[in-house]
Amino acid sequence: MPDPLVAALLDRVRSATIDPVALRSHSTDRSGAAAPGRPLALVRAASVDDVRETMRLAHEHRVPVVPRGAGSGVAGGALATEGVVVLDLSAMDRIVSLDPVDEVAVVEPGVITARLDEAAREHGLMYAPDPASAAISTLGGNIATNAGGMRCVKYGVTREAVLGLDVVLADGRLVSTGRRTVKGVAGLDLTSLFVGSEGTLGVVVGAALRLRPAPHTTLTAAAAYADVDVAAAACAAVTRERLQPSLLELLDHATLDVVDRAQGTDLAARGGALVVAQADGPGAREEVEAIATVLGKEATWVEQGVDEASTERLLAARRLALPSIETFGRALIEDICVPRSRLADAIRGVEAIAARTGVAIYSFAHAGDGNLHPIISYDAALPEAPPEVHEAADAIFALALELGGTVTGEHGIGLLKRAWLARELGPDSLDVHRALKHALDPHDLLNPGKAF
Ligand SMILES: Cc1cc2nc3c(=O)[nH]c(=O)nc-3n(C[C@H](O)[C@H](O)[C@H](O)COP(=O)(O)OP(=O)(O)OC[C@H]3O[C@@H](n4cnc5c(N)ncnc54)[C@H](O)[C@@H]3O)c2cc1C
Repeated sequence: MPDPLVAALLDRVRSATIDPVALRSHSTDRSGAAAPGRPLALVRAASVDDVRETMRLAHEHRVPVVPRGAGSGVAGGALATEGVVVLDLSAMDRIVSLDPVDEVAVVEPGVITARLDEAAREHGLMYAPDPASAAISTLGGNIATNAGGMRCVKYGVTREAVLGLDVVLADGRLVSTGRRTVKGVAGLDLTSLFVGSEGTLGVVVGAALRLRPAPHTTLTAAAAYADVDVAAAACAAVTRERLQPSLLELLDHATLDVVDRAQGTDLAARGGALVVAQADGPGAREEVEAIATVLGKEATWVEQGVDEASTERLLAARRLALPSIETFGRALIEDICVPRSRLADAIRGVEAIAARTGVAIYSFAHAGDGNLHPIISYDAALPEAPPEVHEAADAIFALALELGGTVTGEHGIGLLKRAWLARELGPDSLDVHRALKHALDPHDLLNPGKAF
């Protein structure tokens, strides 16, 4: 006897399936964690109507739904739990319009992030938010996690690019939030409420996104330092000089060493930490020179990129950091953010945690944002992360809060950091979160057990 919801879905939504292979492949994400349960069905939505019908049926039968984009999340937000319907939005992948005068694109949620950027470039524009996963993640997933990236230090995170949203609510109603204009203050800022809500408040089925002029020139400078303290102080000096880099990244010694081992480079010979900075726009040349001067003061090595090829070479260490770590083991990607002034304390704290737990941890940071990625590496042959890895991760979250920071700068809470969100928010703020959730989703049908 088929489940009544499954029977109704198979009858009314063409893209619904119960194929076990499809269910399995849509149950996990890139967190490395196992899905806590098996889904009842999968819907690969092809239209807003598919999403609305799925939500209406799920609401009628009181069956929970897990929205998902590309499944590139690393916090467990898209993991399937027992008895859910997985709602895959990745086939809704049209760029509906791109207006070069208004500098606004209207997109469906399944558009791959980098594709919008490429389309914008044809008009001298860019889509500024640039998660390192831009080639695989969807804009809907980026909006649901409020994704960040290297360019955020100048252009802000995804929230800064979202003007308005179309959202299907838990009962299947469709609401439009925000605006399609550059300015607009009518009504409460529901757009911001949905951005970063990790699929718990509504399903994003459309977005109006702000584009920006693409810079003609982007120039790079890199510098090495005796240790992370001097490197972090150099990054702070860049900010103090009121310079505005479009990228400001820091790599610790362990990361330089692993990049050298994987790529055959000699970065660690230059110093105990590396900083890479970029400036873009009409003033890029003067700005990158000013940045290089500030970075050069206490450096053991400094170089300025003069063209695209040297720029790419200087940035390569940062781009290759995660793939290099993954050459030697499975990576648990953490994502804390601290006040910029506490960045060196955070990296030192992570080093102490690595020494105490005996776990290998590599740290690199979006230094301009204070957003640190401690990457915990463990033996890829193990079926799951050993206890000391979880101990190290917990200690890293505690460190973030101790330093006045947050347990996630850009990846979200998902399933894996729920207990830590409660500690970060405190009981009253958590109550407010839950009251809002209850107002929008009284039967707890949207991504239950995730985020808060
Ligand atoms: C190698 C690598 C590098 C990465 N680098 C970065 C980085 O630099 N910055 C960064 O921020 N993240 C990064 N990530 C994490 C990940 O790519 C982002 O979190 C991304 O935004 C997830 O998009 P997705 O389409 O894969 O969403 P999914 O993983 O499918 O889902 C993520 C969350 O969003 C919800 N969701 C998805 N689509 C919708 C929708 N349409 N409506 C409502 N809810 C939805 C899901 O329920 C889930 O909670 C990286 C991941 C990898 C594997």
